[in-house]
Amino acid sequence: MIFRPPSEADSLILQVTVGCSYNRCTFCGAYQGKRFRIKDFEEIKEDIDEVSPYKISRVFLADGDALIIPQEKLLQILSYLKVKLKGLERVGIYANAKDILRKDVKELKALKELGLGIIYLGMESGDPEVLRRIKKNATVDQLIRSARKVKDSGILLSVTVLLGIGGVEGSQVHARETGRVLSEMDPDYVGALSLMIVPGTPIEKEIETGRLVLPTPFGLIQELETMILNCQFTRCFFASNHASNYLPLRIRLPEEKEEALKRIREVLQKKDPDLLRPEYLRAL
Ligand code: SF4
Repeated sequence: MIFRPPSEADSLILQVTVGCSYNRCTFCGAYQGKRFRIKDFEEIKEDIDEVSPYKISRVFLADGDALIIPQEKLLQILSYLKVKLKGLERVGIYANAKDILRKDVKELKALKELGLGIIYLGMESGDPEVLRRIKKNATVDQLIRSARKVKDSGILLSVTVLLGIGGVEGSQVHARETGRVLSEMDPDYVGALSLMIVPGTPIEKEIETGRLVLPTPFGLIQELETMILNCQFTRCFFASNHASNYLPLRIRLPEEKEEALKRIREVLQKKDPDLLRPEYLRAL
C-alpha cells in the first residue's frame, strides 16, 4: 500500500523510503509491520529512468516521512529527477516536525532550488494533551517552529489535522487549540481528516476499553466549526473534502470564513443525516 495526500492524486509516486521511521502514532496503521528503510540511490535511479520517457509534471516522494533522508542524498534524488524529467514542475514530500527541525532554512532553500515545492506535515492536534496521548512525537512548540522554517524557505506548507482525535471529552479543546496553533503556523493549505479506527492500532484498544469515546458525526462537524472559527490565516486553502469526512468543504480563508461557518451551522441546526456523506462512502 502506498499512501499519498489527496492533492497528489495525479502525481508520480516515487517510493524513496519504505515505511515510516517513527511508526508509533497510536492512530496510524499506514505502515504497520513495515520495517523502515531508505532505498539505495541505485534503486531510486532505476525507477526514475523507467518513467523518464513520459511527460511528468509532479512527483510525490513516498513513504511516511521521506524528509528524514540525509540532505546530500535528497539533493542527489532531486537533481536526478530534474535532469531526467524535463517537464517536472513540483516535487512533494511528507515530513514530521523533527525532520524539518533537523534542517536549517538554508538547507530547505537548497531543496527548493532543486524542485521541492511542497511539504506535507502531519500535526493532528494543537492540544498538547492529545499530542502526548497519541504519541505524536512532536510538541506544539516544535510544530510551530517547523512550520515557520518551511515558510521561511519559500516551500509551500500543507498541514493535516484530525477531527475526533480528542474524543468526546476533549473535543472542543482539541478543536479550539488546533485552530489556534494552525493560526500560528499560518500554512498555505490545511487538510482536515476525520479519525477512522484502523484495526490493530493502539487507539483501537482505547476505544474498546472505553478510555476514548469517539464524537458523533455531528460532534465532528461541531469540531470543524470551532476549528475554523479559531483559524486566523494570512492566505490559506482549507479542505475537509477527504473521504473520511462527513461534511466536505473547500474554502479560502480568511475570505470564505463566514460563508463556511454559515453552511456548517445550517447543517448543525438541521441535524439531518442526509446532509452528510454516507458511512459506506467514508474511507481513509
Ligand atoms: S502518522 Fe505519520 S509519523 Fe505517525 S506513524 Fe503514521 S506515518 Fe509515521
